[in-house]
Amino acid sequence: ASHNKDDNCIFCKIIAGDIPSFKLIETDNLFSFLDIGPLSKGHALVIPKYHAAKLHDVPDEHLGEILRTLKKIAVAQGVENYNILQNNGRIAHQEVDHVHFHLIPKPSASDKEG
Ligand code: 5GP
Ligand code: ZN
Repeated sequence: ASHNKDDNCIFCKIIAGDIPSFKLIETDNLFSFLDIGPLSKGHALVIPKYHAAKLHDVPDEHLGEILRTLKKIAVAQGVENYNILQNNGRIAHQEVDHVHFHLIPKPSASDKEG
C-alpha cells in the first residue's frame, strides 16, 4: 500500500498520531475514528491511511475494505438506523480534503430515553 502523506492535512496528522483521535479500527490500508463534531452518538469516519483527496483518488482495490469496515462498525455499535455519507468537493460539502466516509447513527426513540 502507498502511504503518501500531506503535511497540511488534518486527517494525515490524525493517522500519524500528531493530532489525537478516538481510534476505532486501524488496518494496513485504512483508519477509523470518531468524528470530533458528531451529528449523533457514534458518528464515525473511515479514511484511507494515505493522502487521497476524493473518492476517485482511491484505488479500486481499497474500496471493498472501506465498505466492509463501515459495516463492521455499524454491527459493533448495534445500530439499526444509520446513514453512510461521503462528500466530494466544496460545493458538495466536503470540508476536509482527505477522502472520508461518514457512518452516522440515527438514534431511535428508545435510544434517546437511555
Ligand atoms: P466533511 O464535511 O468534509 O464531509 O466532513 C468532515 C468531518 O470531519 C466533519 O464531520 C468534522 O467534524 C470532522 N473533523 C474535522 N476535523 C476533525 C478532527 O480534527 N478530528 C476529528 N475526529 N474529526 C474532525
Ligand atoms: Zn491527508
